[in-house]
Amino acid sequence: VSFAELGLNDWLVDSLRAMSIRAPSEIQSACIPPILAGRDVIGGAKTGSGKTAAFALPILQKLSEDPYGVFALVLTPTRELAFQIAEQFRVLGKSINAKESVVVGGLDMMKQALDLSRRPHIIIATPGRLRDHIQSSPNAVHLSRLRFLVLDEADRLLSSTFASDLETILSHVPSKRQTLLFTATMTESILALEHADNRPFVHRCN
Ligand code: AMP
Repeated sequence: VSFAELGLNDWLVDSLRAMSIRAPSEIQSACIPPILAGRDVIGGAKTGSGKTAAFALPILQKLSEDPYGVFALVLTPTRELAFQIAEQFRVLGKSINAKESVVVGGLDMMKQALDLSRRPHIIIATPGRLRDHIQSSPNAVHLSRLRFLVLDEADRLLSSTFASDLETILSHVPSKRQTLLFTATMTESILALEHADNRPFVHRCN
C-alpha cells in the first residue's frame, strides 16, 4: 500500500517524499487507518520501526483539518526520545506551521512555561517535568483542550518510576480524547489498560 491509500493527504505524502520516505512501514500501514478513523490504538513497536511517524502523521492530518481543535500530548520516558519525536513533528508538520514544544527535565522551567503559554499544538514531554509544570501552575498547560494522548514506550512509562507522575498528568487530561499507545512489549499492565478507564474498544493495530 501507499501512504495515500492509508488515507493521508497529499501535503503529508509530499513531506514524506522530501524525506525520501516512499512506502509505509508495517506499523504505519497497520496503525494509521484506525487512528484516522478516530479509534484508540495499541501498537507493538520498537524504536526504528517508524512508530513515531505512525502517530505523528495522523495527528498532523487532523491538526490541518481543525487547527483550533486539535492538541496532542506525547509522553515519552527520556529527553532524547522527546527531542527525536519533536524533530519528526517539526519536519513533517512544517508546511502547516505545526507548533511543538518539548517539555523535559534539565531545561529552564521559566522558558518552558513561556513556551507553553503560547499554546503549542503538540507537547512532547517526559512525565516528571510535565508534572512539575502542572503542579506549579495548573492552568499553564491547557490540557483541557487535548484531543490526542500518545504514550510512547508505554511499557516504560507504566513502570513504577513514572507511576505517580503519570497519575497526576492523566487526572488533568480530558477523558473524551483519542489515546494512542505504543509499546515494545505487551506487559500485563498494558493489556490491563485495554479494559481499564471505560475504553473497551481499543484497537490492537499490529
Ligand atoms: P522511529 O521508529 O519512529 O524511531 O523511526 C526511525 C527512523 O525511520 C526515523 O528516522 C524515520 O525518519 C524513519 N522512517 C519512518 N518511517 C519510515 C518509512 N516508512 N520508511 C523508511 N524510513 C522511515
